Amino acid sequence: MRMTTLLTPTLKKEPAGWQDPGAIRLLRGGYALDLHHGEWSLLPLGALLRDNVAWTFIHAFMDGGFQQLEDLLYRKEGIQLLAQRVVQSYRDLPLRVMELRGGRLLLSGIEASSSEECQKNLLYFIENLLENMALSGVKIEDATLGKEGAYIALHAEEEFAASSEGVECPSCGWHGTTHAHAGETKPFRTEEESSVQEVFTPGAESIDALCSYLEVSSEQTIKTMFYMAEVNGVFQPVTVLIRGDRQISERKLLVSLGATEVRIAEEKELIEIMGQKPGFLGPVGLPDKLLVIADSSVEGCKGVVTGANRPEYHLTGVTWGRDFKTERVADIALLEEGMDCPHCGSALRKYLWNGVAAVWGEPEDALETLYQDQSGSSQKCALWKGWIHLDSIITALARQKTYPLGLAPFDVDIIVPSIKDETAMELATNLYHEMVHQGVVALFDDRNERAGAKFADFELFGIPAKVVVGRKAAEGIVEVQYGEEVKEMQACHVTCFLSSLLNDDDTQL
Ligand SMILES: [Zn+2]
Repeated sequence: MRMTTLLTPTLKKEPAGWQDPGAIRLLRGGYALDLHHGEWSLLPLGALLRDNVAWTFIHAFMDGGFQQLEDLLYRKEGIQLLAQRVVQSYRDLPLRVMELRGGRLLLSGIEASSSEECQKNLLYFIENLLENMALSGVKIEDATLGKEGAYIALHAEEEFAASSEGVECPSCGWHGTTHAHAGETKPFRTEEESSVQEVFTPGAESIDALCSYLEVSSEQTIKTMFYMAEVNGVFQPVTVLIRGDRQISERKLLVSLGATEVRIAEEKELIEIMGQKPGFLGPVGLPDKLLVIADSSVEGCKGVVTGANRPEYHLTGVTWGRDFKTERVADIALLEEGMDCPHCGSALRKYLWNGVAAVWGEPEDALETLYQDQSGSSQKCALWKGWIHLDSIITALARQKTYPLGLAPFDVDIIVPSIKDETAMELATNLYHEMVHQGVVALFDDRNERAGAKFADFELFGIPAKVVVGRKAAEGIVEVQYGEEVKEMQACHVTCFLSSLLNDDDTQL
């Protein structure tokens, strides 16, 4: 393509209000238009880059038997409609599909039995494809994505706007979101037996205030929280118990309750349920009809401090099984720095990440369609879903000096420092036509601009190769740059040289 016909409004200065160096590069390089407030719209170069990334995934998935769809998967019932139409027998399975939709590649699959193996393989496959793009993705576990479901993420710096907080284990390399499964949790237990005592704790409405008043550690306390959970379309109160040093993961709570929404109960709702405000509530003597769920850190506790369900009072010496007990115990704690790694038990540390892909298993009854197995009996299908976030991937690619060959919008930039040099222009034009003919995707900078401006734009574009047609044009010699390598060669050899790079497995995706 000729530069004079391409819309590339490059910026001399960094755009204001952006932190991510990849996003800044895309905006400066004329790949995207700044819509402000953290939004952009892709311009031709950006659209080409994203298409190349998308098609790298699409081709790889097609080789793996995926079918490409349009305007179906994004609909809530899309996969259901497809299954009803095309899934009858075990011969129709597995059915794996994908669809490009607004900067994402949506993925879904219907499997004959469990989908766990497929989820695991797919995550591994995506990690490998990212590695081929010189991006190192890591698997980030999350309890709300099912047993094998996970995110694939790229490490994010503190200043990146779009990053999420998670945890990593410095010993075994495990990564999780703050909603990942917590490891085995031991409840707090005192050595000696103790009986329940009601103690006056004026003003001790928070765990911190209570701990300093009674001189106990937060581990020795139990927090009692009231939530409203929407289950089967109806909101009902739920009492949630957790060790005082831990926080509740509302997402894990939601999944554990099978709810569609959970929120902290409002003060007036709490007064209606318990007859009092928060601050001194506890698990001992709760009304029978209340649904109570305890985090694993509470089950089996001994000699702990809880609210007394009486303003300004707490109970000490409270013991699980003797003074209270809940039928429902689940892992609903938020994972935080300093907690134990669920794999090896080492102390976790904070990790900032940026999700580029996710794969998860849908609940067992998500798909109504049944299929006939080999013996002719009806069986349930297993459904999984996923997505790949293409915009996050191109942002990550833009942090590198050049885009990888095969993903970059152009393989090579042909630059003539002075278009008044007719010999050089003629040689460059011929070279450009030859490249187009041979399938090398070339950008021909034919603008009447200073050489410096053209070289600066080349740096901003991140195109992997550059050909400068200048002072030795009369001898048919040009300068070729690829990566760190710069060499002079006869113009007639350039296309062949670039084609060989394109066909080399190490440089080509
Ligand atoms: Zn570990």
